[in-house]
Amino acid sequence: MRNSRNSTLHKIDTSTRFDADPTSAPTRAEVHLGRLIQNLDVFRRTAPSAEVMAVVKADAYGHGAPRVAAALSEAGVTWFAVATVPEGIRLRKSGVEGRILVLGAPFPDYIHFYGEYDLDITISSEEIAEHIIAAEMGPFRAHVKIETGMNRIGIPCRDAVRVVRRLEMSGDVRLEGLWTHFAAADGTDLDFSRRQLAQFNETIKPLEDAAPRIHTANSAAALRLPESVQHPRALMRIGIGLYGYSALEGLAEDSGLRPVMTVTSQITHLKSVATGESVSYGRRWTADHPTRIATVGAGYADGYPRLLSNRGDVSIGGVRYPIAGTVCMDMFMVDVGTAADISVGDEVVLFGPKAPDAYQIAAWAETIPYEILTGVTARVPRVFVS
Ligand SMILES: *Cc1c(COP(=O)(O)O)cnc(C)c1O
Repeated sequence: MRNSRNSTLHKIDTSTRFDADPTSAPTRAEVHLGRLIQNLDVFRRTAPSAEVMAVVKADAYGHGAPRVAAALSEAGVTWFAVATVPEGIRLRKSGVEGRILVLGAPFPDYIHFYGEYDLDITISSEEIAEHIIAAEMGPFRAHVKIETGMNRIGIPCRDAVRVVRRLEMSGDVRLEGLWTHFAAADGTDLDFSRRQLAQFNETIKPLEDAAPRIHTANSAAALRLPESVQHPRALMRIGIGLYGYSALEGLAEDSGLRPVMTVTSQITHLKSVATGESVSYGRRWTADHPTRIATVGAGYADGYPRLLSNRGDVSIGGVRYPIAGTVCMDMFMVDVGTAADISVGDEVVLFGPKAPDAYQIAAWAETIPYEILTGVTARVPRVFVS
């Protein structure tokens, strides 16, 4: 198990955001921390006996991990999850005092970071377990990931008890959790998730007393599969739901979850075009009547997908207007017609309430809301409102 990049990690700047004055940027992402906490409470009410492990990987799904984690900490959350060690270090350095589990498979060369920054480690394979024991750098706080059907990372059920016993004997880990992950909890049929859960429960039976915590549910499972959050020591790993979305359209709304992020931009230019004039790169849109074209100060470099070219729409003053032509890196154009009362500087809602939501953007862009939220780039200042 070698890692050929071991000389580079220390040189990578872990700050991922511009320290920009949001008022001078045309595009901004408003993050409503009050709604975040309301969404947290939805999960607490849904599964009163389970505790929320807030998944704040990928900069809290694009919302800004340090501020999101601080707000959640204030609301009593003590468990956090990230995907990678650098994400965990950034969060720890931002002042989070709760537990931070790194969900991804550890790189053997970097396990010292888990100790240095007090991060919980995922034991994702028997090889990793043996490496940790051999390294004698512990004790690490460890969560053993058991493979039940996602086939991404994890220890096969048949090996799980043996590996856990070996870790316990070694003294190099403190077992904090046993966990698995559902492959299709947001699918139309929950049978596969039920089979995964049954297999997990069967596997951990001999280990019932070994781990203080058990966690299986993601957002969709917490809402749809009550048996996944009923264990007396259950955590639930909640990501997308905290931010007000779900992979399954309707599920979040029906559960009372509300989107936390609104992305707005501004009209930076307004002009009239005559019949036959084309707009934007590749001349993929041509006026079939005289109209006015508003240029918006956002593009795919802000995370506004280029697939929305000639396909998406935006909301200006509560009215929807279609995108005209190709979405550029930093701008795109909208056909606002000749009648509308619209001027340069007007706010344009790219997604949010009374506008297309991230489901709609995702549908146009042939993806899921997760990718739209995490795709809002570092150029877009996050503005936190309560
Ligand atoms: C991202 C992730 C989650 C959170 O899933 P959501 O669907 O966003 O709630 C939970 N567990 C693991 C292992 C993950 O990677």
